[in-house]
Amino acid sequence: MGDEKVKEEAMRIIGMCQVLPRLVVFDLDYTLWPFYCECRSKRQMPSLYPHVKGIIAALKEKGIDLAIASRSPTADIANTFLDKLNIKSLFVAKEIFSSWTHKTDHFQRIHSRTGIPFNSMLFFDDEDRNIESVSKMGVTSIYVDDGVNLGALRQGLTEFAKNQNAVEKNKQK
Ligand SMILES: [Mg+2]
Repeated sequence: MGDEKVKEEAMRIIGMCQVLPRLVVFDLDYTLWPFYCECRSKRQMPSLYPHVKGIIAALKEKGIDLAIASRSPTADIANTFLDKLNIKSLFVAKEIFSSWTHKTDHFQRIHSRTGIPFNSMLFFDDEDRNIESVSKMGVTSIYVDDGVNLGALRQGLTEFAKNQNAVEKNKQK
């Protein structure tokens, strides 16, 4: 499926949802691209998982903000790759630094930068421990085992709506 076809399908999936996240946050390694960027050279030309370009274009067009939360120790390589892929300017926040915590620091920073509450965020990552700790903050967090694709997007938006309904119900109690 080409980028345009993926984007069309992603737009259709997003269009079916009543409630949408305000911000979608992505990990980098093995979530947006199929490698650890610390093992690469800046001179190489990186590639994304096949659905990624179409999905981020669709989210952007629907007015949903995008951000990155990566524990990569080589932020310079990550930034060079985002630049080479022509997607760097699409992200409102890029938190790329190694840490002892499982991305809770990254999300605190994203929250202070954007002012968006945790329960209005949707997050994709390929590591269970990050999913676990970030979901405890109130962020809908989706585990991906083969990178971000249309299936993961659909699952993420469905989970997000479920969590949002639970929040509303609790408010009414
Ligand atoms: Mg990763």
